[in-house]
Amino acid sequence: MNNRYIHRRRFLKASAFALGGYTVTSLDVLRSWANQSEPIDAIVIGSGFGGAVAALRLAQAGVQTLVLERGRRWTLTEEQNTFSSLRAPDSRSFWLNSSSVPLLGVFKPAAIDDCTGVLEVLGENGIGVLAGAGVGGGSLVYSAATYEPTRANFDRVFQGSISYDEMAEVYYPRVRSILKPSPIPEDILASDYYRLTRITLEQAANAGLPGKLLDMNLDWDVVRQEISGERVPSAIVGEFLYGNNSGCKNSLDRNYLLQAEQSGFVQILPLHVVTDIYEMSEHRYAVFCNQIDEGGNVLQKRTFTSKHVFLAAGSMGTSKLLVKAKAKGTLPKLNDAVGKFWGGNGDTLGLRVGLPPTNPSQGGPLSAVIEDHANPIAPTALQPYPKWNETRQDYLYSLGFSIGSAKGSFQFDPFTNSVRLTWPIYDPEIIQLRQATLKTYQKLNQANTNSTYQPKTARVLDEITLHPLGGAVLGKVCDFYGRVKGYKGLYVVDGAMIPGYTACANPSLTIAALAERCIERIIADDFV
Ligand SMILES: Cc1cc2nc3c(=O)[nH]c(=O)nc-3n(C[C@H](O)[C@H](O)[C@H](O)COP(=O)(O)OP(=O)(O)OC[C@H]3O[C@@H](n4cnc5c(N)ncnc54)[C@H](O)[C@@H]3O)c2cc1C
Repeated sequence: MNNRYIHRRRFLKASAFALGGYTVTSLDVLRSWANQSEPIDAIVIGSGFGGAVAALRLAQAGVQTLVLERGRRWTLTEEQNTFSSLRAPDSRSFWLNSSSVPLLGVFKPAAIDDCTGVLEVLGENGIGVLAGAGVGGGSLVYSAATYEPTRANFDRVFQGSISYDEMAEVYYPRVRSILKPSPIPEDILASDYYRLTRITLEQAANAGLPGKLLDMNLDWDVVRQEISGERVPSAIVGEFLYGNNSGCKNSLDRNYLLQAEQSGFVQILPLHVVTDIYEMSEHRYAVFCNQIDEGGNVLQKRTFTSKHVFLAAGSMGTSKLLVKAKAKGTLPKLNDAVGKFWGGNGDTLGLRVGLPPTNPSQGGPLSAVIEDHANPIAPTALQPYPKWNETRQDYLYSLGFSIGSAKGSFQFDPFTNSVRLTWPIYDPEIIQLRQATLKTYQKLNQANTNSTYQPKTARVLDEITLHPLGGAVLGKVCDFYGRVKGYKGLYVVDGAMIPGYTACANPSLTIAALAERCIERIIADDFV
């Protein structure tokens, strides 16, 4: 492929067409706006795991690519004060109309104005959903666990439609080669900060359950410097949700996206919220967005066009854009599977009490997992996490996953011009996942009961997920390489392509590896 590099400023000037003061109301308006903008080789919507993989691989193929990202760029400062702390959330913490997350001990102070903070909290029908917002997407706020599912669990979700061998031999290693995740080193594990990890592994062993250290996308040398006082305490005191100021987290802006931008082929536009996608003639698409300021005020409306548009706005963002496009007739040929087969990865937030002293407010973001894949109800996994404000030493919090039915679906509301997710939280199949997790807790409690300690399960909640997945699923809305059916040149490369569950594991590694698999085929077939 020829390198088609043009100077960045000229590239943007040529490709953006600014329009002020209009509201997107009808197809006619969209059509006339679209015809006034200049084309770009490829547009990527969103800069999380799927978007970052797509951007880098397109850049390496010499494809001039524009990344439209709704959130800000979060550059780490020398002063180590880029993000707000969990202890004192401020306008940097929450994305626009987000709310508090009492289940995580996170409360949005009433005094904070709506702003373009790094964490989005969505109150949907039946479930709350958390997601990242900013250049790097979920990697800015995530706990950095980089966890590969087992073959049996992967096949349970993908039913043989994606080869596990291919993922394990090619695509998981490809992602690892860029992120370079590693488990907690022994000296850090031995520190008092990570007592909760050691107790978790001991308790798993007592219960005869496999327990192991997780590969973490962290710079452990920086964590060591947090412990020695050379860097601000961040991971060690349970920070992750609003970002990590010490620089311990290898977020995507420091690897995939950095390399993509350094190539000269990728331009990232932060604070650009995509609102609509419209098919013009001959498989050319117009992407409409609002350029906003940090307070969320619209500065101008912009339109970009391309023959290749990659949706990577996360499961929630991508599903909402597609459901809206189908309902409003801007992408009328989308099939009826759009906005369906959504799940929250079987996420639970659990609390056990009555344990030996765990030091429960420290030692994050995550570090170990207990696997109960032989659970008779459904496979489960538990990962202990610190709750920064917990003072009860006998407490241990864990994030749980499972595998079940992807029964969530998105609906368009013409009166509000918006899309909402409905999750059937009282469906017996969904309740079963909570039962599966309770069973694992029961096993742990029984095996660790002695004359000194009698652990009990205080609660297991499933009303919130950190892992939205599905809505534009492979083999249904797209083919098995993310190509949207009926729309040549339109692709989905993020968590929306996965049917509700990443096989009893945290999703980022699987999303990135599937994106690697999709983009490799798309570049080979569609960019010749
Ligand atoms: C608190 C928390 C902890 C987590 N911990 C882990 C963990 O330890 N390990 C793990 O594997 N996973 C973890 N996750 C989940 C992980 O972050 C997500 O699964 C992953 O980021 C999803 O990748 P994605 O590419 O689908 O979308 P995202 O990474 O969510 O990226 C989507 C991007 O699109 C942007 N966007 C959305 N809508 C628009 C729009 N309309 N216009 C323009 N841009 C838009 C967003 O701002 C975002 O940058 C965690 C998530 C949270 C919230």
